[in-house]
Amino acid sequence: MEEFRWDPVDLGFTLISDEKSGCKECTYTQNEIKSMEFKKGYVKIYELKDRVQPSKYELDGKFFKRSNAHGYEEILVENDKHSQSFNSYTADDIEKLLMLISERTRELEKYGLGENISISRYLNGHDYWDLVLLPIPRHRAEKCFVCEGLNYVGNRGVYKTGNIAAYVPFSPKKNELMRITTVKHTAIEGLDNVVAFDIANLIIKIIKKIPKNATINIKQSGTDHFEINIFAGETDPIDSLGITRLNYSPEETAGKISEKLGDGK
Ligand SMILES: [Zn+2]
Ligand SMILES: [Zn+2]
Repeated sequence: MEEFRWDPVDLGFTLISDEKSGCKECTYTQNEIKSMEFKKGYVKIYELKDRVQPSKYELDGKFFKRSNAHGYEEILVENDKHSQSFNSYTADDIEKLLMLISERTRELEKYGLGENISISRYLNGHDYWDLVLLPIPRHRAEKCFVCEGLNYVGNRGVYKTGNIAAYVPFSPKKNELMRITTVKHTAIEGLDNVVAFDIANLIIKIIKKIPKNATINIKQSGTDHFEINIFAGETDPIDSLGITRLNYSPEETAGKISEKLGDGK
């Protein structure tokens, strides 16, 4: 059972999770729900069944608020061989993958599962994308914060074409190296080939120059303008939405600690 808890002090969310750690491709490839053509083969999509909780997001509790609603998760797997191919992909391959992801987000949109989407790929892991869609409420600004961010890049810019811009954010998340976004206000559901190709070319440059031990994360929340974050190390798609994942229960932990303290030994 997984549960979101809301911190009344910093207004952040913690996810108490019983998820197994490690490669999800090696753990969760039982529920294939769809396949999409890719490189003379298929991208296969597996639903992480035990993690699907289709109920609408609701917080219960007077002071401490919680919810067991979880949203949706699936993995998009490019090959069944449990190998790493991403570093050998061409810009065309990566463009095609981005377009498949865009197509998939359009399909998922129909189900109204939530407006926070986060899709991560760990470059040093097996060939899959980990997609989560959460109904957690987000701060809503009048203006698009991604477009506004682009207006104030200043001397934090690192790369630019007519279609995309990459920069180091004003207040980066933990381990965040840089952020890529579209110059024009664009939702991931509406990505086109031309923009996807520019992004693919930049990703190729990045993976040649930065350590393999990095995560590419596609994120979109609230204002329907997507961003791609590059993180050092392995980053959970939940983390990049600013949610802390814990793999232990506070209540069980309290039991263990009080047992140790209680008898005075
Ligand atoms: Zn694996
Ligand atoms: Zn925008």
